[in-house]
Amino acid sequence: MAAPRAEVVIDLDNLRHNVAHLDALAPGAGTMAVVKADGYGHGAVEVARAAVQAGAAWLGSCSLDEALRLRAAGLTAPILAWLDPPGTDYAPGVEQGIDLSASSPRQLDDIADAATRAGRTARVHLKVDTGLSRGGCPPADWPELVEKAARTPNVRVHAVWSHLAVADEVGHPGTDAQAARFDDAFREARAAGLDPLRHLANSAALLTRSDLHFDLVRPGIAVYGLNPVPVPADLRPVMTFRSSVALTKRIAVGESVSYGMTWTAKSDTTLALVPVGYADGVPRALSNRMHVWLGGRRRPVVGRVCMDQVVVDCGDDRPAEGDEVVLFGAGERGEPTVREWADTTGTIDYEIVTGMYRPRVTRVYR
Ligand SMILES: *Cc1c(COP(=O)(O)O)cnc(C)c1O
Repeated sequence: MAAPRAEVVIDLDNLRHNVAHLDALAPGAGTMAVVKADGYGHGAVEVARAAVQAGAAWLGSCSLDEALRLRAAGLTAPILAWLDPPGTDYAPGVEQGIDLSASSPRQLDDIADAATRAGRTARVHLKVDTGLSRGGCPPADWPELVEKAARTPNVRVHAVWSHLAVADEVGHPGTDAQAARFDDAFREARAAGLDPLRHLANSAALLTRSDLHFDLVRPGIAVYGLNPVPVPADLRPVMTFRSSVALTKRIAVGESVSYGMTWTAKSDTTLALVPVGYADGVPRALSNRMHVWLGGRRRPVVGRVCMDQVVVDCGDDRPAEGDEVVLFGAGERGEPTVREWADTTGTIDYEIVTGMYRPRVTRVYR
C-alpha cells in the first residue's frame, strides 16, 4: 500500500467515547450531536452513526439539505435543521420527519405551507434571540411568534431554543443574561398555550453550566474531542492529519529552503519533503511556525508552506522516505495538536478541523 499523501484519520472509538461521556455529564437531558458542516470536517454520516451508537438521541445540522442526507443514509434519529435561506422548500424535510427551526413569522409560514403540501404536521423548534443577535426571534417579537405558532394548523411546536454567545468564557455575565431572557421566552410560550421542550447548551455550556442543560444539550466541538473551555474534561481528539516523507536530502550550510528563501541552514542538515501544503489544509500562516511528528519526535517545518508541500528540518537524523509524518493528532505522544495550529494562526480549532474537508485530502475511519 502506498504511503499516504494527505490523509485524515477519524477515530470513531474516540468519538463514541466523547459522546457517551458528554451524555453522562448531562444526565437529565438528551444529547443532540451536532454534525453540521460535514460533521465539523469529520464526515457527517459516519459521525452521526457513531454518535447514535454511543447514545446521542438527536442529531443537529445547519441546513435542511444536510439533514436530508443523514436520513437518506438511513439515520432514523430525530434531526433538527436550523438555517436555510428564503425560498427553501421544506416539504421534503416535513416528509422525512426532520424537525425545523423558525425564528420569524415568515419562516413559520414557509414551514406551515410545506406541511400543508406534504399532508403532514411539521415539528417546529421556535428559536428566540437571547443576545447573540444572529438567528432567533427578537424578544420584542416573540409573543407574536409563539401566539401565531399556537394557532397555525399543521405545525406542532416541539421546543423553544436559543444559542449562547459567550459560554466558552466561563463566568461571563452574558450567559446569565441570556439564560434570563430564555426563561422569559419559555414562560411566554407556555402562556400562549404551548408545552415545549427547551434547549440552549452548546459544548461549553454542557461542560460548565449544568443549570442550563434543560431537556436537550447540543454539543458540537466536544463530540470531536476538542474542549472549548479551560476546564478538564475526558475528551479524546478524533481527527489525526498525516502524510509521509516523499523525499530526503542533505543540504549544505548556507542553503535556503522554499519560496522567498525565508530560512537558511545554519549547518549541513537533512531535509524531509512532505507532500501536503495549503491546498491540503496546512495554513500558509504557519510558515516557519509549525512542527510535525516524524521519527518519534517533533521537528520544525522550515521555510514557507507551499500549495502542495512543506519541508522539515531533520538535522543529522535520516528519516526514511515513506516514513509517517503526523501534522496534527491527539497530542498524546507530543505530536502537534489542532489547538496548537489554531493558537498560532489566531483562530479556533473549529475552523481548522472544518477546513480539512477538501477534495485532495482522503479520509479514513478507524
Ligand atoms: C454549532 C452549533 C452548536 C454546537 O456548538 P459547539 O460550540 O461546537 O458545541 C450548537 N447549537 C447551534 C445552534 C450551533 O449552530
